[in-house]
Amino acid sequence: MFILKIVLAAGILLVVGDFLSTFLYHVPEHVFGKFHSIVHHGKNRSFLHYAVLTRNPVVILDGFLGALPYFIFVPWLWKISAIGTILGLILGEFHVVWRHVSLIKWQTPKAISFFCGCFFITTPERHWLHHENSSVAYGDIFTFYDRPAQQWMKFLMGIKKKHCKNIKA
Ligand SMILES: [Zn+2]
Ligand SMILES: [Zn+2]
Repeated sequence: MFILKIVLAAGILLVVGDFLSTFLYHVPEHVFGKFHSIVHHGKNRSFLHYAVLTRNPVVILDGFLGALPYFIFVPWLWKISAIGTILGLILGEFHVVWRHVSLIKWQTPKAISFFCGCFFITTPERHWLHHENSSVAYGDIFTFYDRPAQQWMKFLMGIKKKHCKNIKA
């Protein structure tokens, strides 16, 4: 039961956090904002930049807004398992750094790629596709958010187009 609670708290934190981060911040930012695109998708960025290890306040702000959904449930998850909550936050933070290692010419070992495939976990190679083309490979941590995220993006794009037309008319 103890172990189960740890896994449950860490799992909920990552699955719900990635869901909120993707649908409420990441996709809308790509459709309506420029902030994330400049910070996260600009050319000539270093590994440290993407991994939010720089002290640039703009980079930290993008990282903070993206990470906020992971923190809002902490008080609630803490009641299920404090260790699981901390583990979830550490794993989430680790994944942010790991998914950007493509920049230092990292290649994910086959065994890890296979493991990630089984658990729908985004590998650095997959996340890099998103950096190269911001309309694909959504789900910072989990790949199963990609399809609904792309649908959500199309829907928001439709609203944006309609709205812009109305402004012009
Ligand atoms: Zn990224
Ligand atoms: Zn993006």
